[in-house]
Amino acid sequence: MSATNLIGLSRDELTDALSSLGEKPFRAKQLWHWIYHRGERDFAAMTSLGGPLREKLAAAHSIRLPEIAVEQKSKDGTRKWLLRTEDKNEVEAVFIPEEDRGALCLSSQVGCTLACTFCHTGTQKLVRNLSAAEIVGQVMVARDSYGEWPSPNDGRMLSNIVMMGMGEPLFNYDNVAKALHIIMDGDGLSISKRRITLSTSGVVPMIERVGAELGVGLAISLHAVRDELRDELVPINRKYPIAELLAACRNYPTASNARRITFEYVMLKGVNDSEADARELARLLKDIPAKINLIPFNKWPGAGYDCSTAPKIKRFSQTLNELGLTAPIRVPRGRDIMAACGQLKSASERARDKKDIGEFETLTGGR
Ligand code: SAH
Ligand code: SF4
Repeated sequence: MSATNLIGLSRDELTDALSSLGEKPFRAKQLWHWIYHRGERDFAAMTSLGGPLREKLAAAHSIRLPEIAVEQKSKDGTRKWLLRTEDKNEVEAVFIPEEDRGALCLSSQVGCTLACTFCHTGTQKLVRNLSAAEIVGQVMVARDSYGEWPSPNDGRMLSNIVMMGMGEPLFNYDNVAKALHIIMDGDGLSISKRRITLSTSGVVPMIERVGAELGVGLAISLHAVRDELRDELVPINRKYPIAELLAACRNYPTASNARRITFEYVMLKGVNDSEADARELARLLKDIPAKINLIPFNKWPGAGYDCSTAPKIKRFSQTLNELGLTAPIRVPRGRDIMAACGQLKSASERARDKKDIGEFETLTGGR
């Protein structure tokens, strides 16, 4: 398809695109509103733009989202989309509902540049960065699924965004930042930075920019309290060790006010779940406004770890509480559709794994 996709253009780029059609800037504002507030995809229906402009737009531009290869709905209300990009790559987005709202978990890359040993996405071979259009497109697909157009101000299901899907967002910073600016724009999708959290495995040099340029909430995938172990679990630690990572957290702008930094900690049986680990974790975080998210390990076929036992996780959480830290245990959601944290991986990659272990299964829509 040769028409320029308008999704993923910044407001300035959209204004430029219209000015090259001989149109004034206010037209860009109107068009933005149609696309991102109203959710309209058909130029002909954008009545306020005037007939001649609608025709010019239709001739050279289009509004395209990633194609939905599979939409799955879990028994617990979780929804997962396997999306196909125009170059036939696959990425996943997951929506995790709560009572009257919910968080949409977005992917930033096809696969992941890194290879944390407990993470299913990290085993995917094919990797490329997603474009801003492909990141924004995930939000629009989810909003379509809930029929939440025009973008509601209150009472929306799709209320929060977490950059916690496939990929390391800070290895694709430019596209992620561009997409988040579009998502946060108050005239459009309008999801406030206070409702957005970006999770990183610890790309230290980029953390300052996230704070200064985006101002979203920060989550750090910590998972270990000693460099020796973190080097193994989260290999980027060899480049940016724990002390440097925590120093960047201390400087993070939201750290000084009410919004705390989330530290994610996956519970791996006999690996990082001892009483001593809990105490050391509390010591490391003592001067950072932190909350800890204890994530029961989601096992995937071929994973070399087991999840800590329930009493052990409870004990770990209690120890942290006694030392003054909030450490809720995250309830696993969407397990029946492999939608839980760290299980995201494209269907075609999963099929390839199965072939590797001699357990071939035919999957529709795979490569
Ligand atoms: N790359 C980013 C964001 C995506 S991973 C990051 O690493 O932070 C989102 C979260 O899921 C991370 O905290 C990650 O460590 C965690 N995770 C990965 N695999 C998991 C698994 N199998 N079980 C539980 N959590 C997992
Ligand atoms: Fe990549 Fe995050 Fe998985 Fe590590 S945990 S491999 S950084 S997606």
